[in-house]
Amino acid sequence: MKTIVIATKNPGKLLEFKQMLGQLPYRIVSLADFPEINICEDGKSFDENALIKARTVAEKTGLLALGDDSGLEVEALGGKPGIFTARYAGENASDEENIKKLLSEMENVPWEKRGAHFVCSLALAFPDGRIFIERGFCSGIIALKPRGEYGFGYDPIFYLPAYNKTMAELSDSEKNRISHRARALERIKMYLERI
Ligand code: IMP
Repeated sequence: MKTIVIATKNPGKLLEFKQMLGQLPYRIVSLADFPEINICEDGKSFDENALIKARTVAEKTGLLALGDDSGLEVEALGGKPGIFTARYAGENASDEENIKKLLSEMENVPWEKRGAHFVCSLALAFPDGRIFIERGFCSGIIALKPRGEYGFGYDPIFYLPAYNKTMAELSDSEKNRISHRARALERIKMYLERI
């Protein structure tokens, strides 16, 4: 069986990839299996960061690697936090601290101006240097307070009007049908099915 390394240490992301790639004939491992690999995530865009992650891991392991860079772009904040989503409330900030900071920045923003979208760039890197990049989006509204127990990151404050639920109230299978990551991965899966 072929092996693919998911270039992440984030357990929430890894679980979603495992659920979504489960049907394909790949053994799925992650950076947790290669603790010696450190990645300097200093790109200027989601695509660049996904590429850095995938390329570094493919070079260091000699295996097929999938790099994910994702985040939240909030309209009322001019697209922030963007590539700084993970460290919005500071280096090593927890999900709760990031959510608290975002809600405080949005305190005076009315409901109709709270539009946002999640972005996910995925880069698939082959050890021989070939690269494929795909991007997915998911639109929603920044809720007034957190709700829901599932998912990870900003899910409890990402409200989806079509479901009348936050992303953290969706089941795993519902989230994995509509999320930014699922949408980018749909196209990456086509490459994986062809090799
Ligand atoms: P990265 O690990 O550098 O790509 O940072 C991603 C940031 O976006 C982290 O703060 C995540 O919590 C957040 N994020 C990415 N995808 C999701 C998602 O599906 N739900 C909630 N938060 C997400």
